[in-house]
Amino acid sequence: MLKQAINPAETTAQSVLSVKNLESYYGPIMAIRGVSLEVPEGQIVTVLGANGAGKTTLLKTISGVMNPEKGEIWYGGRNIAGEEPDRVVKAGIVHVPEGREVFPLLTVEENLKMGAYVRRDPKGVAEDHEMVYGYFPILAERRRQAAGTLSGGQQQMLAIGRGLMARPKLMLLDEPSLGLSPLLVKEIFTIIRRLNREQGVTMMLVEQNAKVALEVADYGYVMELGRLVMADDAKRLLQSKDVQEFYLGVQGETQRGQKRWKQKKTWR
Ligand code: ATP
Repeated sequence: MLKQAINPAETTAQSVLSVKNLESYYGPIMAIRGVSLEVPEGQIVTVLGANGAGKTTLLKTISGVMNPEKGEIWYGGRNIAGEEPDRVVKAGIVHVPEGREVFPLLTVEENLKMGAYVRRDPKGVAEDHEMVYGYFPILAERRRQAAGTLSGGQQQMLAIGRGLMARPKLMLLDEPSLGLSPLLVKEIFTIIRRLNREQGVTMMLVEQNAKVALEVADYGYVMELGRLVMADDAKRLLQSKDVQEFYLGVQGETQRGQKRWKQKKTWR
């Protein structure tokens, strides 16, 4: 059902990341099955999918935490597939993992410093501390507090802030909405959008929460069992019947006119 090209761009933007035929395994289990996608510079691209679809594995493979078995990951004019994570960070790709993973015993300030470990420009790092505090004022208030004592939403803000401290060109965000209240999700996604627009950070956003992700994204892919099964402009995906039924819980009508939840179907 992947009618359109797996290629966002009808847009003219140049791709900052180009993934070609990627395959990744956990032992004998093939988690990513020939994924190809493009992330155009300056855009927010989302990858949607249910639990276990392979979204996290895709991000881990891009950031070098996992080695792919096959395929290419083109970034900055070279194929970075299989490179060590620290080289990938130095090249400008930062991965904000699922579940935040802040350093709980370190303070907010120390966590932010850790994000800048690859940098050698103390003045720029100091400026970026202030930039992060500007976007997340609550972190400035709590700068001397241990990260483990922050709320879930504040830890998510810190994880994003720590990622920003590497001054990334491309940020990989894994389920930033996970476990947060709708109000906090809205707040965090508004900031993600602002960071994209104001700081020029290209975003690849993996989400199960399709609605918030498609509202903030420019382009979207849908992943199922390790494969991409749909690709389209985010606004068109929001309107797509399949996406509405599958991910947005939009109700259909029975012949008798009674409301019911439509049967789950797969695209393959
Ligand atoms: P979630 O939203 O739950 O993180 P996901 O779309 O990110 O889901 P992945 O975590 O990438 O999915 O998992 C893809 C597949 O790989 C699943 O079938 C999962 O069971 C399997 N898998 C993930 N991690 C491991 C692991 N450490 N060892 C073995 N299999 C794994």
